[in-house]
Amino acid sequence: MSPAPTTLPFIIAIDGPNASGKGTLARRLGGVLGFPVLDTGLLYRAVAWMALEQGHDLGDQNAALHCADELHNVIKDGYLDNPNLRGIEIGNAASIVSVYPSVRQSLFDLQRNFALKPIDNAKGSILDGRDIGTVICPDAQVKLFVTASPEIRAERRAREEYGDAWEAHLQEVLEKTRERDKRDSERAVAPLKPAEDSVILDTTAITPDQALARALEIIAIRMDEHSEKNEKFS
Ligand code: C5P
Repeated sequence: MSPAPTTLPFIIAIDGPNASGKGTLARRLGGVLGFPVLDTGLLYRAVAWMALEQGHDLGDQNAALHCADELHNVIKDGYLDNPNLRGIEIGNAASIVSVYPSVRQSLFDLQRNFALKPIDNAKGSILDGRDIGTVICPDAQVKLFVTASPEIRAERRAREEYGDAWEAHLQEVLEKTRERDKRDSERAVAPLKPAEDSVILDTTAITPDQALARALEIIAIRMDEHSEKNEKFS
């Protein structure tokens, strides 16, 4: 058994809409800081994927809940590594099942445990999603809300999905982006919104390197405060 960590983990919550750059930022921060990263969108994508594979209608809340519960058993077998989870269509499907409060509740402990018990005794953890700073980790030491204009987010998504043919699909991807933003922001439970104590990082006109540099500045300040607190605990 590995020894229990002696200090409180340093939790970084990154929220924001689809294709805002939050996933890239989370992964790069994980690399720089040596913290494990959980892309929580993948959990909802996996629930939608499982429901569709089992032939369920996405409107069937009980079936979606059953899949969310089942995800706890199969996640250790690499269920989230399936590349099919990454497409635009499954993202839209995920935004349908993520509206169900019972599905969100089922996935809550998974996310909370990841945050509080970082694997390999890392000193902290990073989670990216829609409700990390507001619901999953309201106690996070750093909360970033990464955003960008719908037009630039749709362009990034279209380039990623369609390569050289991206322009032909831009309008359709923009419409889906707006539709998903609306569903994620207007749902009753855990809607997409910045936590009151979050720092807004708009990536519309900056590069991923600049976003990383800005995030690291914010984190460095909070890390100093955090280590002072931990010294008082020990
Ligand atoms: O981040 P990603 O695009 O992979 O998320 C897919 C969908 O999962 C989102 O549109 C949202 O509806 C849902 N989601 C959520 N809460 C999270 C992460 C994702 O509701 N923490």
